[in-house]
Amino acid sequence: MAPRRLTGSPDTFGGYRARLVEGLRASGIRDLAVLKAFAETPRHLFVPPAVRHRAYEDAALPIGNGQTISQPFTQARYLEALELKGKERVLEIGTGSGYQAALLGAMADTVFSVERVEALALAAQRALREAGVTNVSVLLGDGTLGWSAYAPYDAILVTAGGPEVPPPLVEQLVAHGRLLIPLGARGSQTLTLVERVGPGSPLEVRHTPLGTARFVPLLGEHGFDA
Ligand code: SAH
Repeated sequence: MAPRRLTGSPDTFGGYRARLVEGLRASGIRDLAVLKAFAETPRHLFVPPAVRHRAYEDAALPIGNGQTISQPFTQARYLEALELKGKERVLEIGTGSGYQAALLGAMADTVFSVERVEALALAAQRALREAGVTNVSVLLGDGTLGWSAYAPYDAILVTAGGPEVPPPLVEQLVAHGRLLIPLGARGSQTLTLVERVGPGSPLEVRHTPLGTARFVPLLGEHGFDA
């Protein structure tokens, strides 16, 4: 597994990254494409300098503006559940640091990621550039409305917890596409797989609960009040 080439200084974090990947494997992550994405993606470029020394711990870390970069194990579970094959166009809601978008970029064809906080969107764009990721676009706006210009998407990942599945996201998903979203109250959700069963209207979906999750709130028109 050749690490993605980093611009600027040589990658001195390679050993820590390998240990993170081993930890994920030991915790039960089996999908080789997921493990490879973690092995190739320099998480240290996506966290603020103050917590960079902790970049390869399997822990959520603060990224500013009251937001967090999720725990790698949780992100790995998400990526396994999406069952990406490499050719997909993916929509992510909640860019945050940009790290999960970079992982998605390593596993799919094209990624569009929507963030509502401008400072985070800009920092994520910078980190993606620095990491040499070229197939991820960051969009500024309310992700509960999706991003219709590039729809439909083969897979949609929501990385903040919402009270309901935002209807525009289902509309922007291909027939038989997979959408993952933590659903529930602020502070405690159930990670839910939503599959679009058919192309017709009304939109037919199947919900499968995948376990408990704790994400920052999804804010916006089809989310919680800001
Ligand atoms: N995937 C991120 C973690 C994101 S934390 C990572 O790898 O770092 C959740 C993010 O969702 C936060 O940055 C928050 O600002 C954003 N968010 C919350 N509601 C949103 C909305 N309606 N549209 C877009 N982003 C939203």
